[in-house]
Amino acid sequence: MIKIEGVRKVFNGVTVLDHIDLKVEKGEVVSILGSSGSGKSTLLRCINGLEKLDGGSISVDGFDVARPKELAEARKRSATVFQLFNLYPHMTAVQNLMLAPVEVLKVPKAKAEADARALLASVGLSERADAYPAQLSGGQRQRVGIARALAVNPSYLLLDEVTSALDPEMTAEVLRILARLADEGTTMVFVTHEVEFARTISSRVVFLEKGRLLVDLPTTEFFADDGGLANPRVRQFLSNMS
Ligand code: ADP
Ligand code: MG
Repeated sequence: MIKIEGVRKVFNGVTVLDHIDLKVEKGEVVSILGSSGSGKSTLLRCINGLEKLDGGSISVDGFDVARPKELAEARKRSATVFQLFNLYPHMTAVQNLMLAPVEVLKVPKAKAEADARALLASVGLSERADAYPAQLSGGQRQRVGIARALAVNPSYLLLDEVTSALDPEMTAEVLRILARLADEGTTMVFVTHEVEFARTISSRVVFLEKGRLLVDLPTTEFFADDGGLANPRVRQFLSNMS
């Protein structure tokens, strides 16, 4: 599991994550909601060891991300898809997918390529496997991003607003794939503005506000009047979203 305990993060004297406790067990789909600036991206970056913690601890399957020797193991288990497409522009889709399996996991090239092509087919991109990112639409690029994250066979898939730069049609393409992954039992931590989608695929919903974790409830309770909606900040957030 991903275990986040008492995590604090400070930027220039401003506390942006304040004593965050959160556990994600295998098989869960946890959505993280919250206004812009509430600390959602920073929390995902901390799970990946991209930000140094100013307090508390995070472990992924028991590997402490603050220990350099354990970080590589933690990172193999959790793969992140970011808001902005971060594919390598000088590599084709299939080459983007092969990179980590070949370089990090030491998978033989022929097997990595066969796996990469199968993964691209699974996100509907078998025809585009040899295209460069610049030759793909935004939705296609984000599907390559998801396939690339899956290429290392992660235990946890972390997604940071992967549809926020996409138009509605492309958003739908990407959400369809995430819904299928959820159905297949992929463990996901999902930062999103797509509240209705979060409601349909999540097992739990977490609400962040100014770096604090205000609510952490099973999805049906989160959206119940006497559950998450009893919190005025949650209620306000959801009414601004709709
Ligand atoms: P969210 O993803 O919920 O919109 P972020 O995690 O991006 O929020 O940001 C949380 C707060 O931390 C914001 O106030 C943001 O300005 C600040 N912040 C994020 N990254 C940095 C950074 N590298 N340096 C300084 N401040 C940052
Ligand atoms: Mg963000």
